[in-house]
Amino acid sequence: ISRSRLDRFLAKHTDYNKKSVRLLLAQKRVKVDGDLATSIEQIIDKFSVVSLDDIILQQNTAIYLMLHKPVGVVCATKDEQHKTVIDLLDHQDKASLHIVGRLDLNTSGLVLLTNDSRWSEALTLPESKVEKRYLVTLAKPITADYISAFAGGMHFAYEDIITKPAKLKIINEYQAQVRLVEGKYHQIKRMFGRFRNPVVALHRQAIGQLQLDPLLPEGQSRLLTEQEVADIF
Ligand code: URA
Repeated sequence: ISRSRLDRFLAKHTDYNKKSVRLLLAQKRVKVDGDLATSIEQIIDKFSVVSLDDIILQQNTAIYLMLHKPVGVVCATKDEQHKTVIDLLDHQDKASLHIVGRLDLNTSGLVLLTNDSRWSEALTLPESKVEKRYLVTLAKPITADYISAFAGGMHFAYEDIITKPAKLKIINEYQAQVRLVEGKYHQIKRMFGRFRNPVVALHRQAIGQLQLDPLLPEGQSRLLTEQEVADIF
């Protein structure tokens, strides 16, 4: 996260040193987000628009994308073998984006990408408890006793953790909806693995309040609306 005080920012981006930038403010020559700057202590972040004599020194746009990830595409920025989610995007600034929560190679569905690390960190912080909803298709029939096992938490020996309460809703014999507030390695596959029931298809339907746009075809992406960015939590 790039954040700095206004005096440091100006010293870095102009020919003035940190001491003399105070004068620029007194002369009413510096604007932040269109308003005259009055304090050298003001915090400037990646998306603050800063100008000196109305010449813009920094103007970054926050980008938020949803992608309908197909099976067989890897959630990474570079890969020798497989197409990456970045390869699927056509945004001109796609190289600046990072993936908010990865999906396995053979998992499909909603993937978010952004250049706003404060937003992505808030979304992935365990304390935020943002629910991820998955549609799971199993090889063998699901029984009602799965529900309490998912809700009660499972011990993962490798990490030595107990999974947080997960909600399982049975849709039909072979399909369930699972809601997780975390994302341990292969978590859903491992949880069904406890019942020796292999996952044959896994699809992420939603992250928080944001559902995968039903009009978005596999492999396609679109920008989020301001409302979607704000309302996801
Ligand atoms: N659980 C998994 O096993 N894989 C995913 O991609 C997401 C959750």
